[in-house]
Amino acid sequence: MTMTSQTTYNNRSTWIGREGVAALAPKVSGDLLRPGDAAFEAATELWNGTIRRRPALIVRPASADEVSAAVRFAARVGAPVAVRSGGHNVAGFAMCDDGVVIDLSAMNSVKVDPERRLARAGGGATWGDLDRATQPHGLAAPGGLVSKTGIGGLTLGGGLGWMRRQHGLSCDNLASVEIVTADGEIRRASEEENPDLFWGIRGGGGNFGVVTEFDYNLHPIGPEVMFAFVLYPLEDGLGVLQGWRAFCDAAPDEVSSVVLCGTAPGADPFPPDVQGRQFVAIAAVHSGLPEEGERVMRPLRVLGRPLCDFSERSPYVEVQSAFDEDYPDGGRYYWKSLYLDRFDDAVIEGVLELAASRPSPLSTVDVWQLGGAMSRIGPDATAFGPRDAPYLLGVEANWIDPAEDETNRQWTREACARMSGFSTQTSYLNFEPDPMAISPPQSPRQVRLAALKRRYDPDNLFRNNHAIAPA
Ligand SMILES: Cc1cc2nc3c(=O)[nH]c(=O)nc-3n(C[C@H](O)[C@H](O)[C@H](O)COP(=O)(O)OP(=O)(O)OC[C@H]3O[C@@H](n4cnc5c(N)ncnc54)[C@H](O)[C@@H]3O)c2cc1C
Repeated sequence: MTMTSQTTYNNRSTWIGREGVAALAPKVSGDLLRPGDAAFEAATELWNGTIRRRPALIVRPASADEVSAAVRFAARVGAPVAVRSGGHNVAGFAMCDDGVVIDLSAMNSVKVDPERRLARAGGGATWGDLDRATQPHGLAAPGGLVSKTGIGGLTLGGGLGWMRRQHGLSCDNLASVEIVTADGEIRRASEEENPDLFWGIRGGGGNFGVVTEFDYNLHPIGPEVMFAFVLYPLEDGLGVLQGWRAFCDAAPDEVSSVVLCGTAPGADPFPPDVQGRQFVAIAAVHSGLPEEGERVMRPLRVLGRPLCDFSERSPYVEVQSAFDEDYPDGGRYYWKSLYLDRFDDAVIEGVLELAASRPSPLSTVDVWQLGGAMSRIGPDATAFGPRDAPYLLGVEANWIDPAEDETNRQWTREACARMSGFSTQTSYLNFEPDPMAISPPQSPRQVRLAALKRRYDPDNLFRNNHAIAPA
């Protein structure tokens, strides 16, 4: 027997050998990749280039039945499991060492029912796949800000996008899912069917199984929306952010905005005199009619004297990929976040100081405007954590040189530690770069999650994530 890898699971050691894989092969029509196979190394690459892991086997199923076969196989041989949707998790949860990776990239089809305003997307689809399928019908599901991220990780962890204040988080817009649980069973979950499981997957991450189909409620938007993107000098940041705060206090739910503090790249479309300058930018989308959005968001464009103003009416699909280029595959990343209780002048000064202290010009300090629809959903309605924070601070270290890894990670950690006095809540798990074990459970929500985990994954097969220990 040829050995490929030793793994431990539940204190048992096991080997994933060729014979075992051969038994799985007839049940999976897609790739089965093992170390040494030509396509193996490329298949282990993640968006976050700081993370390299070496699984024993990568399975690329084409259906829920094939996912079920892979789950049963991993459970039988006692291998840890990682699930890959878009591969964009900051902590690299899509890959594990020595275990089985269930790579859903072949399951990315999207079907739209425009009459019922529903979309059914495979668990490996990206937001780009979903938007391209729904927009011809003038519809969209609330997603994230970068089209290359997977719907899987983003939705299961919450999902903050340009429609969050009008229609809530991505997970709030799920109508139902198909999920393969740790016992290999294919189940459906919705408000009517397995409602406990449906509660848990909306914010509980990949803890309860492999979601093979996401059914989203769609909303009318586009084809054009008003997109505001205005850069001001960082040195004018105090006045600009005071003005943004006043705008947010009165903004309608159709507007979702984000502050980005960064450095203008030395390339088009930035004018030569702006390239290399530190800025505080306001980016915002109005999800209603573009002319209405132009009028409502006008104040965001006159918060000071702009360095440049890229605001324009734009196809929604293009807005959804406006920031794609800023996050190239294989770059080096370490992000953290903090829900803010307030955004007073002390917070603004802290944000501006952090922005000025960035070790890498590619890094940004961001503030997300929250509230609106996402905060009106009851705290117990889904497993998603805090909903009442008015703002979310995002500290994004982005850099290229491996020699600068520790400097950038340290800056991110210190930045969040420094701002922790402005927060009584936790962080947004989808922006967490290190595993956060939710054990022992502290809150009623965590107790409920632990009980659910025990019911659907008592042996903790799906633990390569922000893992919930079974009760
Ligand atoms: C460039 C970039 C932009 C981002 N922008 C936003 C944003 O605008 N809003 C926002 O809210 N977040 C954003 N994020 C964070 C994002 O939500 C997380 O990184 C998320 O994990 C990415 O999902 P993925 O499917 O690509 O990840 P993957 O790495 O493929 O998956 C991460 C983990 O999620 C679980 N998982 C994924 N799919 C499934 C599935 N089908 N079934 C079961 N478990 C699954 C698994 O545990 C998996 O390991 C962004 C991230 C990046 C890198």
